[in-house]
Amino acid sequence: MSTLIAENIHQFRNYLPKGVTLVAISKTKPIEDIMEAYDAGHRDFGENKVQEMAEKAEKLPKDIRWHMVGHVQDNKVKSMAPFVSLVHGVDKEKRLKTINKEAAKNNRNIECLLQLHIAEEESKFGFSYKEAHQLLEKDLKTLYPNVVIRGVMGMATLTDDEPKIRNEFRGLKGFFDTVKKELDLPRFNIISMGMSNDYKIAIDEGSTMVRIGTSIFGKRDN
Ligand SMILES: *Cc1c(COP(=O)(O)O)cnc(C)c1O
Repeated sequence: MSTLIAENIHQFRNYLPKGVTLVAISKTKPIEDIMEAYDAGHRDFGENKVQEMAEKAEKLPKDIRWHMVGHVQDNKVKSMAPFVSLVHGVDKEKRLKTINKEAAKNNRNIECLLQLHIAEEESKFGFSYKEAHQLLEKDLKTLYPNVVIRGVMGMATLTDDEPKIRNEFRGLKGFFDTVKKELDLPRFNIISMGMSNDYKIAIDEGSTMVRIGTSIFGKRDN
């Protein structure tokens, strides 16, 4: 049986260039909706609240790769450390320290992205380019041996001004290219940018990972 969610998944698969990973953002959506995408062959799902993600992970198949795309507080790291696949929203060095500690307790490495503040809005989290650059210059492998920094994440300003969105994504890609070239970061190869309203621009500008909620699962009530 083909459902609307399954159809959306297939459409994205067909549309996305090779090398761009689709993360289906299932926040607020029920288990049944996630299973529809899962049965269509999808395995990468994202949530923005640790508790919701942990509850869903417990009930769902174990081969799902869970992405934490929201802002994470230190006291929430512990409950996702055993299973989270990629943490997109690291916005403080202190968080790396906590993630490293909890990863070590679970005898694993946790992959993370540094979130950059690329939007105009004050409300969005993230490092400035300068802060992120200074952090990446440190010997992070020694400081945080159980953390792997895989790349960057950014959210553009919520606007209809396409050139503005494009410019913000272009800045993030430029930053990624610069540090990748300058520093020795062998596993640094993910650029997480693009949501339902701006993924086409993000892909144009070099995204390797898009985070799509509404266009797969439909509108959220809250
Ligand atoms: C909710 C959310 C998304 C998905 O947003 P849509 O507009 O529904 O595609 C992507 N990234 C983050 C960080 C989110 O919180």
